[in-house]
Amino acid sequence: MLIGGIEAGGTKMVCAVADEKGQIKDRISLPTRLPEETLGEIVSYFGKWEIAALGIGCFGPVDLDRSSASYGHITKTPKAGWEDCDIVGYFKDALHIPVGFDTDVNGAVLGEVTWGAAKGCDSAIYITVGTGVGVGVYVNGGLLHGLVHPEGGHILLAKHPKDTYKGRCPFHPNCMEGLASGPAIGERWGKPAAELADRAEVWEMEAYYIAQALADYIVTYSPQRIILWGGVMHQEQLFGMVRERVKELLNGYVHHEMLCDRIDEYIIPPALGEDPGILGAVRLGMLELEREAG
Ligand code: ADP
Ligand code: ZN
Repeated sequence: MLIGGIEAGGTKMVCAVADEKGQIKDRISLPTRLPEETLGEIVSYFGKWEIAALGIGCFGPVDLDRSSASYGHITKTPKAGWEDCDIVGYFKDALHIPVGFDTDVNGAVLGEVTWGAAKGCDSAIYITVGTGVGVGVYVNGGLLHGLVHPEGGHILLAKHPKDTYKGRCPFHPNCMEGLASGPAIGERWGKPAAELADRAEVWEMEAYYIAQALADYIVTYSPQRIILWGGVMHQEQLFGMVRERVKELLNGYVHHEMLCDRIDEYIIPPALGEDPGILGAVRLGMLELEREAG
């Protein structure tokens, strides 16, 4: 059996065909232009394969409430042309197969829980620190939606005492995305983040922010694994710094061997390399197929 997956981003759409074991048979990446252009190209791609279902891990915000009239839509995105796009409806009409749908980061955590570094966990989170910051949440064996869906990238943080940067989120002066995304690092220090590798104070401040967010997720979601990734985490020295700071912040309060003795197995990069998002999308398709089969 083959399943299609789409990792739908604001810059590119990664489309893949995989089997039910998560083995990718083929993939393409298409630039995200207007829906009327890009969605048709994606349908043409999947038309060449016999896929039983499709899953989409999508940039947001999205409507995940199955009882809502706008379920399966991208809602109030600033991405030109995509606001109120009925992406699930489009593929259902074009392909006549079950279409699973969730946020890109929920897709990524699902990929890691199914085939990657959080395999076997019934609670895990995936946090990406890149152009933005996003958090996918898997709790008690399912993806967390709630009122809308978690927006853990906008968690409010205490500012570093030496940080005079005003933040770049238009909504919050002190949220994680505004203070710790790759572009925020670039603006604060006057150079792209990738060119600041040798500046210790840059990564000390970055670890201060990431660790605060993780400590908050640990005490709220109690994840069994934290998968940490995104362009900023190419600075691999951050992993050790973040683990140490998380321990300091929790100060022994959450007592578990994963935190006390095995934190280097707890806060980890994905095991699926660049593929947690696309494989998670495939898994979303499989789950929708099972759901519709009853
Ligand atoms: P996106 O978030 O757009 O999906 P990425 O997760 O790859 O994409 O994040 C891209 C961002 O990560 C860039 O804007 C840049 O700020 C940051 N970044 C990329 N490479 C590095 C690096 N080597 N070191 C630090 N930051 C980086
Ligand atoms: Zn914000």
